[in-house]
Amino acid sequence: MLLVVKIGGAKGIAEHIAALAADIAACARDGARVVVAHGGSAEADELGHRLGVPPRRITSPSGHVSRYTDQATLEVVIMAMAGAVNTALVRALQNCGLPAVGLSGVDGGLLRGTRKEAIRSVEGAKVKLVRDDFSASISSVNTALLGLLLDAGYVPVVCPLVLAQGGEACNVDADRAAAAIARAMGADALILLSNVPGLLRDAGSPGTLLRHITLDLADRYEAVAAGRMKTKYQAAVEAARSGVARAIIADARRDRPVSSALAGQGTVISA
Ligand code: ADP
Repeated sequence: MLLVVKIGGAKGIAEHIAALAADIAACARDGARVVVAHGGSAEADELGHRLGVPPRRITSPSGHVSRYTDQATLEVVIMAMAGAVNTALVRALQNCGLPAVGLSGVDGGLLRGTRKEAIRSVEGAKVKLVRDDFSASISSVNTALLGLLLDAGYVPVVCPLVLAQGGEACNVDADRAAAAIARAMGADALILLSNVPGLLRDAGSPGTLLRHITLDLADRYEAVAAGRMKTKYQAAVEAARSGVARAIIADARRDRPVSSALAGQGTVISA
């Protein structure tokens, strides 16, 4: 079984990394091949504040929220994602006996993409065009490199940077990166772990968890996902539509988060 596990970067997840790593190690010992992908939004925000580059967000006309990544922010994102968060995860996995290898999407051309030349941003009643943003969409995944590492027994830990056409490193949404990896690798499951129990009908009420969404009804639930959940939900649905048997949005903060997600906890999206 091949699993792609994406560990979110929202607030409240970092303190659960050791437990998460132990569960990933247990899955690997049971025979699963695991690719770990991660975000790091809370760490990037905090580092940005410390370095005098406070985070800014862009909301697209369709309601997607993303990080405004100008040159200075890109440097902060690289430091936080490829530096602090990636190393912390690799260390936690190594401490559980797993031979984890940290990679950014730039390493070995693991994630290649196309920089977005202009992004539409809603500001008050106006829609502005942002042209100095270093974010990209993913066009290809170096599956051979991941296969090489997995075959040799390593656990790749991938941070969401992309090598763009023009040779720049660009920021990419971590959920979309994980979904692209799952799709390209033909994963059996994509598990997106965050600081919520899954997709909630009412974002403020954990009791309103949507447990199973079949692909024929997936579009109907898109309106439920607001802000940053919107991209996560879309990425999960796209992965399930392109052959990943199950995409699961689940809670990183619970006991045995990966095993629990595989046992049906969270929001399971499947045919
Ligand atoms: P991560 O970085 O861990 O992947 P995000 O911050 O990108 O997490 O997305 C998770 C956030 O999405 C939650 O903390 C929550 O505030 C928000 N959210 C918006 N709508 C919903 C919803 N319907 N169900 C669950 N979470 C939602």
